[in-house]
Amino acid sequence: MSSQKLKILVSGCAMGQNIRFNGGHKRSPFIVEDLAEYAEFTPLCPEIAMGLGTPREALRLVRGPNKTTLLKTADGKLDLTEKAQFTAAKLAENITHNIDGIILVGNSPSCGISNVKVYDHNNSPSPIGSGFFAQKIKETLPLVPITEAGRLTDGEERRHFLTQLFVIADFKACAHSIKELQLFHQKNKYLIMAHSPMHVGALGNIAANAKKASFELALSEYHKYLAEALKIKPTKGKIANALSHVYGYFKKNLTGDQKQNFIRLINQNEKIPLLENLRLVLELLAYENLKQNNHYIAGQTLFSPYPISLG
Ligand code: SF4
Repeated sequence: MSSQKLKILVSGCAMGQNIRFNGGHKRSPFIVEDLAEYAEFTPLCPEIAMGLGTPREALRLVRGPNKTTLLKTADGKLDLTEKAQFTAAKLAENITHNIDGIILVGNSPSCGISNVKVYDHNNSPSPIGSGFFAQKIKETLPLVPITEAGRLTDGEERRHFLTQLFVIADFKACAHSIKELQLFHQKNKYLIMAHSPMHVGALGNIAANAKKASFELALSEYHKYLAEALKIKPTKGKIANALSHVYGYFKKNLTGDQKQNFIRLINQNEKIPLLENLRLVLELLAYENLKQNNHYIAGQTLFSPYPISLG
């Protein structure tokens, strides 16, 4: 894991800035109090960047005659579509490409990533839109992990985002030679498997066949497939599959009871959260003992892809 602070682009109101249309904020304690230990933030507000003040009229997405989505005030008098598009493009252009992650505020016609309300001609909303800025930034930085601040209060969503954030940042910080790329792949192999078994082989091939002459190309291909793999959410079944592979490395160290417990635990269908499942498995493995015996398995990021204090 890289020791450098991560660079995160964040909606200013999630940092506690009073810049919302109603003069309030959407401060996220997780971002401001917990993540701040590991990250430095670049806060921005696309609506302020458009020249709108605070407080201001609330904006909304409206479906136009050609299914175009427009940004308007609720009474429809002010159409800010062009201004919003221009501002989003300018902001996206100026955002540094070494950003490690993006956290925007949901339900906003500017920052919401998905499920933003779009109003039809009857003034009836459907949660089918993306905010203008969010859409532009997703297109400009497709490999950068992105989420909404509100989703970080959900344990599984938070773990999924943090895994993408820290693992991809580690890749950018550590994989600067063929050897480093191969080491990176080795330690992340089972984590990738827990997200997308079908990406493991492709990524392994890129790392194994990387050549000095075309290393930059291999690196960018690896980055693309890694981001794609980690975007896929892990499931209990895929974690069980990855753990079964790990099991092969240490089963000779376990007692008969431990083996039975392990098999029961990774195959059970009870509705317990994924991380809880993983913790139970780790306990069962007497992880500290295992660490002393098998560095390859102990170093797998599957067990701790990001700092444990982030939950
Ligand atoms: S436009 Fe984005 S950053 Fe600005 S107040 Fe709305 S949600 Fe927050």
